[in-house]
Amino acid sequence: MHKIVILGSGPAGLTAALYAARANLAPLVIEGAQPGGQLTITTDVENYPGFPKGVLGPELMDLFRAQAERFGTTFRTGDVTAVDLSRRPFRLTLDGGDVEAETLIISTGAAAKLLGIESESRLMGYGVSACATCDGFFFKDKAVLVVGGGDTAMEEATFLTKFASKVTVVHRRDELRASKIMQERATKNPKIDFIWDSVIDEIQGEPQGAGVTSVSLRNLKTDAATQMPIDGVFMAIGHTPNSALFTNQVAMDEFGYIVTKKSSSETNVPGVFACGDVQDRTYRQAITAAGTGCMAAIDAERFLEAAESEESAA
Ligand code: NDP
Repeated sequence: MHKIVILGSGPAGLTAALYAARANLAPLVIEGAQPGGQLTITTDVENYPGFPKGVLGPELMDLFRAQAERFGTTFRTGDVTAVDLSRRPFRLTLDGGDVEAETLIISTGAAAKLLGIESESRLMGYGVSACATCDGFFFKDKAVLVVGGGDTAMEEATFLTKFASKVTVVHRRDELRASKIMQERATKNPKIDFIWDSVIDEIQGEPQGAGVTSVSLRNLKTDAATQMPIDGVFMAIGHTPNSALFTNQVAMDEFGYIVTKKSSSETNVPGVFACGDVQDRTYRQAITAAGTGCMAAIDAERFLEAAESEESAA
């Protein structure tokens, strides 16, 4: 039985762990398939305060982890396959033995969205990728596409110019959603081109052969279809919260983000708190995730104190 179990080890989960550990609550962090979260698949983080020269994403997460560990956080790796939040203590099912928790902090983050076409899943890892920083290296002197018009698309396109000979951004509208600074960086880069008002209908290639060889594009305004030879396709069309495990147990919005009370990390289930990208559709930054992780630990600590004083009064 643990006083606090934290599911997820990105900036939110590890900040929650740091605060809970310093409150002597000996938190247990359960790490999933991607310990450290999304920052471990980025390169330079230039906007995390305290690092004027920037810091590498994986290095930043190593520092978070070491700081949480220093005060007594324990870690367990495993896939949680089921949770029962209908009564306290909450029960989490995972390989190697179930875990019981007096309070649960959900910091499971978000994952990259995909187009959902058959050829995309067939060629995933064979020229199709959702992470430029993970796979960009494999496209040295090749021509690649980036799909999307947000900050992620601009960041990935700019990053890919370090390797690729040519980067083409395909966006479904004629206006970018990305912030001005990211737009400027991408549009000024001579290696980056844009194809507007267009979508990918199909990706051609063979996993066993050369991987991706071309894409079928369609202009949404004219309906004109074109075929474009290409070596790689990077999806950068946003994210989905990793909340499926909590369906029908914790209140979520229409997009699957866990709903927390205003100015709090409390969910609709007393004793269950949520922080980071799994409950944040708007900001999705490492610093905001860390901030809400801190809130979750403080909220959980106060919840435990209140529960203890209720028990001793009874
Ligand atoms: P966004 O939701 O901001 O952008 C997603 C983009 O993909 C949009 O341009 C959208 O088009 C397009 N898109 C969505 N679905 C499809 C689809 N099915 N087919 C084709 N295109 C599609 O996601 P991001 O991941 O870019 O950014 C998320 C958040 O993270 C933002 O708040 C952003 O500011 C932040 N961020 C900040 C960074 C930084 O500051 N360094 C780096 C990366 C992200 P449309 O515009 O038409 O909706």
